[in-house]
Amino acid sequence: MQPRPDPNAAEVIDIQNLTHRYGKVVAVEDVSFSVKRGEIFGFLGPNGAGKTTTIRTILDLIRPTQGQVLVFGLDSRRGAQEIHRRIGYLPSELRLWDNWTGAQYIRWLETVHQRPILPEAEHISERLQFELGRSLSGMSTGMKRKMGLIAAISHQPELLILDEPSIGLDPLMQQVFNELMREARAAGRTVFLSSHNLAEVEQICDRVAIIREGKLEAVEAVHNLTRVTFRWITLTLPEPAHADGFRDLEGIEAIETAGEQLRLRVSGRTNIDALIKQAAQHTVQDISIEHPTLEEIFLAYYGQKEH
Ligand code: ATP
Repeated sequence: MQPRPDPNAAEVIDIQNLTHRYGKVVAVEDVSFSVKRGEIFGFLGPNGAGKTTTIRTILDLIRPTQGQVLVFGLDSRRGAQEIHRRIGYLPSELRLWDNWTGAQYIRWLETVHQRPILPEAEHISERLQFELGRSLSGMSTGMKRKMGLIAAISHQPELLILDEPSIGLDPLMQQVFNELMREARAAGRTVFLSSHNLAEVEQICDRVAIIREGKLEAVEAVHNLTRVTFRWITLTLPEPAHADGFRDLEGIEAIETAGEQLRLRVSGRTNIDALIKQAAQHTVQDISIEHPTLEEIFLAYYGQKEH
């Protein structure tokens, strides 16, 4: 006998052994993980990793080749209608009716959701510096994505599914977006968002699933991943660089020299004051700070786990 679906299940999304093939292309292979009620969950992976495919399966826009997906305890295929009623979705590629204004679009959504959402949409638009009265035609991609975001969250759904929501947002708007997501969580809602950038995800997510080449690599609390993070600090000096004086500073994990450049790998938790003071003994022509790539974090993360 099939278990009865539980619409109040603690696991809002439960992906079980999901495989999806496009012809011979295996986009997602045997992926299993779940998202709990009230968390902000990041789905992280490089381009082509299988994020959009997984999201489209959750929404029943495409069907699993194998495995199944439960949303609110309902099968994603049989329960699609109810699931769609209870979620907000921002697709990675958004198509809007160009001859509408933002407000007209929201009015149309009010008929879909059968309740007033314009006041909330106006409030969010103001925070995102988006003019609802303007025609969508001729708007930049970034502006259209803001419209998509407003449309996805204004009806305050219990689950938000956002495919690369940060594309096209400038840093200031990214902060507003982060606040909106934290507010959704504080109100008991669940957020599932995809991204290819850990630095962005680590600011708001509680947990992340990492996918590469269709396979799930890890599901981790963000603080476990960021514990292993580090940054590369590169100093450009007027003379050939050498590591003397830097080697023994706290948190230095590696040093590379190339010509006038001194590249220091500094542990993520280290205060860099001592490094800056040591650097100040030289004539520093340039300084840059780079965050590790997802690949580097992986290596550090798995390296640490093996020890
Ligand atoms: P991106 O951020 O680039 O969209 P993604 O992680 O969302 O990446 P998917 O779009 O799910 O990745 O793609 C996963 C794999 O499936 C890729 O190899 C992609 O080329 C392939 N793929 C996606 N859509 C199709 C399709 N309609 N037909 C054939 N292959 C596809």
